[in-house]
Amino acid sequence: MSSDCLFCKIASGAIPAAKLYEDDEMLAFRDISPQAPQHFLVIPKQHISGPGAVTATEAELVGKMVARAGEIARELGIGEGFRLVMNNGAAVGQTVFHIHLHVLGGRPMGWPPG
Ligand code: 5GP
Ligand code: ZN
Repeated sequence: MSSDCLFCKIASGAIPAAKLYEDDEMLAFRDISPQAPQHFLVIPKQHISGPGAVTATEAELVGKMVARAGEIARELGIGEGFRLVMNNGAAVGQTVFHIHLHVLGGRPMGWPPG
């Protein structure tokens, strides 16, 4: 755990979140500032700064996060239409430097994003 990392604190339970799923490796919780009717985040409990820091060692874990994102999306009724986003770097809007998968759905979304 990184002591000054917000998502490590959520992962450890030190800061509360609206949890949708938890196991030994990962956690899913609702985004505090939702950008769609359904917007949740999937994070590993392990601190990884962002998708650009993922190596082969973490590949299985990241794959499990994607699989879980789909499971939860189906449970929430957005299985037929959801968007996964992972920001890497402040230049593209990353504000929390603990890897997280955004899952958004429940409204039409254009492509490419603005
Ligand atoms: P980023 O911009 O780094 O890709 O995404 C960070 C996300 O974390 C944002 O969508 C923001 O709303 C969300 N967030 C920031 N602080 C908190 C918090 O304390 N609790 C929850 N549930 N979400 C947060
Ligand atoms: Zn962290």
